[in-house]
Amino acid sequence: MTQNILLLPGDGIGPEVVAQAERVLAEVAGSFSLSLELDTANLGGVAIDREGAAFPASTREKAMAADAILLGAVGGPKWDTLPAAERPERGLLAIRAALDLFANLRPAILFPQLASASSLKPDLVAGLDILIVRELTGGIYFGEPRGIDVRADGQREGYNTYRYSEGEIARIARLAFELAVKRGGRLTSVDKANVLEVTQLWREVVTGLAEEYPNVALEHMYVDNAAMQLVRAPKQFDVLVTGNIFGDILSDTAAMLTGSIGMLPSASLNEHARGLYEPVHGSAPDIAGQDKANPLATILSLAMMLRYSLNAPEAALAIEEAVSRVLDAGLRTGDIAEHGQVSVGTSAMGDAVIEALRSGRRD
Ligand code: NAD
Repeated sequence: MTQNILLLPGDGIGPEVVAQAERVLAEVAGSFSLSLELDTANLGGVAIDREGAAFPASTREKAMAADAILLGAVGGPKWDTLPAAERPERGLLAIRAALDLFANLRPAILFPQLASASSLKPDLVAGLDILIVRELTGGIYFGEPRGIDVRADGQREGYNTYRYSEGEIARIARLAFELAVKRGGRLTSVDKANVLEVTQLWREVVTGLAEEYPNVALEHMYVDNAAMQLVRAPKQFDVLVTGNIFGDILSDTAAMLTGSIGMLPSASLNEHARGLYEPVHGSAPDIAGQDKANPLATILSLAMMLRYSLNAPEAALAIEEAVSRVLDAGLRTGDIAEHGQVSVGTSAMGDAVIEALRSGRRD
């Protein structure tokens, strides 16, 4: 069966890093006999320039029909003076909403070769491999009522509402259990059940699902403790699942454990495992068009796409191993080069990954 992939290169370094991922995809499609059809569309600033909207109807149509989408990045100074509702970043929010991407997967993987880039001691983080599963479409960021009102005593008062239904909790928890089964078999559910009723319900629903997954060891942790444990002993975790606001904060904390924004992939999935895959970094206008961007976050996002949406885990693993071997060989783009290390450009890094894929598995 042919699977449809939509590429959304976007702005800034987006087209440069997506071009390298596309070359890697062509390589694994050949060697793993994947039947893929690729298409490209505009999202973000480039879409505003060419089609008058950040998420044009033509892109929406292709996105709805795609099995998976690979995005570079959107935004840049050229569009910063537009009103907030017309900015490139709105395109990103709109596509996430259109596809109902309720689950955000953020792995924090630290290749041992880059352990010294972390702000933590190398032995605490070398070989780190954790996955944060964040609920993306509910919780306090979307709860109603919300607003800023004037109280009877004349003071202004701001308020938001933290709500989750059982169904919303169950669908993200179920996905996290399934991911834990495929990984190390451990799941940590993060809440604040000692203070917030909404997360008491969260804990009850997650606990209720545990009996369906006898091979997953479930633990519950309060969010304040989870934050401490992430910087104290992060390798204790396998999969963490949490709501929107806690996940927002914990996934950025975990990202920093790896120390290098150019290495971090992400995935956002909907109920049908269709997904949007993108590097965590932005469009890096300061280095755009200079062959300086690190394409590995996008190439690793492609590996996630192969694993989670295209059912090609062997191809995903081959890419991850190729990236590791390229790092072993000492290749570094500027963002991950240590003092005195020679750095290579975006396309040379892409060449090296393809070469490592061709030369096969590690002996
Ligand atoms: P950024 O991630 O684009 O850049 C931060 C710093 O990291 C810069 O110094 C940049 O050169 C560097 N960097 C980022 N990615 C890199 C890579 N692959 N290789 C090497 N160096 C890299 O964040 P920012 O500067 O805050 O934002 C720039 C633009 O990107 C803004 O318009 C912002 O709105 C947008 N943005 C988009 C996304 C997205 O598309 N998902 C995410 C964040 C920011």
